[in-house]
Amino acid sequence: LTLLVSCDKSSDMKTIEASAGNNTNAFVESLLDKMTVEEKVGQMTQVTIDLILKENSTTEIDPDKLRKAIVEKKVGSILNVKGHAYSYETWRNILTSIQEVAENETPNSIPVLYGIDAIHGATYLKGSSLFPHNIGMAASRNKDLVHKSASITAFQTRSSGIPWDFDPVLGLGRQPLWSRFEETFGEDVHLVTEMGEAAITGYQEDGLKSNTAVAACMKHFLGYSVPSSGKDRTPADISDIFLKEYLLPPFKAAVENDVATVMINSGEINGVPVHASKHWLTEVLRNELGFQGVAVSDWEDVIRLHTRHRVASTPKEAVRMAVDAGLDMSMVPYDYSFYDLLVELVKEGTISEERLDESVRRILKLKSDLGLFAQPVSPAVSEEELFKPEFDTAAYTSAVESMVLTKNEGILPLNKNTEITIAGPTANAFGPLHSSWSFTWMGNDESQYSEQTKTFYEGMKEVFGEENVNCNSTNEWDDKGNYQLGNVSGSDVIILALGEPPYAEGPGVIDNLDLDERQLKLAREAMDTGKPVIAVFFTGRPRIISSIEPGLDAILLGLRPATFGGLAAANLLAGVENPSGVLPFTYPKHSGDIVHYDHKLTEEIREDIPNTYGQTGYQPQWDFGHGLSYTDFKIENLKLEEKEISTEGTLNVSVSVKNTGNVGGKKAVDVFIRDHFASITPSVKRLKAFKKVYLDPGETTILNFKISASDLAFIGQEGTPVLEPGEFDVIIGASKATFAIK
Ligand code: BGC
Repeated sequence: LTLLVSCDKSSDMKTIEASAGNNTNAFVESLLDKMTVEEKVGQMTQVTIDLILKENSTTEIDPDKLRKAIVEKKVGSILNVKGHAYSYETWRNILTSIQEVAENETPNSIPVLYGIDAIHGATYLKGSSLFPHNIGMAASRNKDLVHKSASITAFQTRSSGIPWDFDPVLGLGRQPLWSRFEETFGEDVHLVTEMGEAAITGYQEDGLKSNTAVAACMKHFLGYSVPSSGKDRTPADISDIFLKEYLLPPFKAAVENDVATVMINSGEINGVPVHASKHWLTEVLRNELGFQGVAVSDWEDVIRLHTRHRVASTPKEAVRMAVDAGLDMSMVPYDYSFYDLLVELVKEGTISEERLDESVRRILKLKSDLGLFAQPVSPAVSEEELFKPEFDTAAYTSAVESMVLTKNEGILPLNKNTEITIAGPTANAFGPLHSSWSFTWMGNDESQYSEQTKTFYEGMKEVFGEENVNCNSTNEWDDKGNYQLGNVSGSDVIILALGEPPYAEGPGVIDNLDLDERQLKLAREAMDTGKPVIAVFFTGRPRIISSIEPGLDAILLGLRPATFGGLAAANLLAGVENPSGVLPFTYPKHSGDIVHYDHKLTEEIREDIPNTYGQTGYQPQWDFGHGLSYTDFKIENLKLEEKEISTEGTLNVSVSVKNTGNVGGKKAVDVFIRDHFASITPSVKRLKAFKKVYLDPGETTILNFKISASDLAFIGQEGTPVLEPGEFDVIIGASKATFAIK
């Protein structure tokens, strides 16, 4: 590519940007003044890299196609990879070629904003170590790890030349059928809010201009995670109270933490596609939450207002609706239809140039905030810096802390000399450990994984010794897949590696939560041998196992732990590591009985029959917050500094946690509040705070929590937050104390 035509325009832009000093607004306004309608519309257009690649190549830019995008159609943003992860050099070459054309061959030298789904690590950078998906990060209850994983991801992504990351997912995981459940931080609004904050501040640490940060993208606004049928991108009927009290707060907190961008929900809420909703995109997002960043559509979702949702009778009307609703940028992404139609709409006067200016201002400001005018591609770093050993340590620790030991009849930890047979479809494959957005979209190309990645079987061999571990599994999920137990006569224990294949979005759609019959059959065969049976699950969502659970001696829920998940699971089984993950969702017992821990009270609270209500009962397989350890912790001395607080007050709570067992371990402590009476039926309890602490054997610590009265407000009958005085319980483990708001 020979595009290095020397040109003064870019240095002009840099000088103007510099002379505007810290006044980004003045710089942006001066730029806006010079731009044509076409240039403005181009800034609002995002296309996929497919459009600029040479035919039959996944990595080589076609100079003509690149010029068509950047010079002719004036495109301001590009996204994604084609097919698989790129090496660091490939990324930098691609980004450099793109930015050189933008800098040297366009009238105002506006840099291109490149975006990527680096959602559990630098997922499209070849060789990187990935972190557990959010569902596991939430199980860790470790905000520091979430923050650290985001800042490592940001550094690796930005160093590759990419300044924008489409993460974090802030939808609540309350619909376990949904194929993107693994991308969520679980079912609780407080947990999602806190973890979302940790991720955003990690991505944007030290400010967007820093070479170690990326612009984060809260997504998908709003209501995407709870499709009524459970199928991806199908309609959602959501009550006003649920929208405002459960789904909105993580986004509100993200805005308060200066999240740079937002991606819109592809679906519809109560009959209105969110991409066409002025209510959500302008009244709520802009006016109520005060969001000032860039709002990007999801994949092809503008045109889908016409093709899928049928609220727009023509493609042009779809563009008009989305822009009118408040969208800043369209992830088109395969053609220039959005560009052509929006130019037409402005030329004919249907959409005003002032309306374009609002969006283009935000986009230019983001580019300037990221420092892209001065430095379109961040400086190169050495391979040693890019892949530091401490990054691997963080990914390994995250994998360890993300796993939940849900059952242990005393068989774990296993002695390292134990003779083990492993069977089951997740034993010897990378995909089930990683799933979506892992070097490929679905994480199902085994050839793409980094060298340091180990399957569960490989991890087991490393920890227990090759001679002690025997495995009959192949990694195929189709009918050829080997689900045979084989000869187990020489084994002391059978470990079943079960779960789900890798999937993303549409391909992850299922009709019910039951684990498939072949895996259940394998489990029954294992139990029939009379040997102890341990099950390890690699899944993105809870799959129903109630029919086999009674026969299992121990269960480790590995979720989607990624690169070091195989090793982490093996070390947990061996007791090299002590399990500390706790469930971030309520694990259902029956496919048709999806329940949540914060259900409503429908009968008297019976302390002798915890968690029971109504005729049908709240009967999960395991409760939210459940997770075992190899040591015992005693939670006691729950103390409230105040017996009464005002509606503006804060409650100071303390509790002591003691490690009463023989090994060191981490304990996640969840703090719940129960409202005794309220004008909207109160939940049995709601999470309001959590902390995680490490304790040596015999060690005790006091944990302090502050809960503001305002945290106990809820959405009332008028659809606005209300805080009602009255009595409340603080619940931590088996301890409870009562206070009042006056
Ligand atoms: C997903 C988004 C993602 C986008 C770009 C869409 O299909 O819903 O979460 O950021 O693709 O890859």
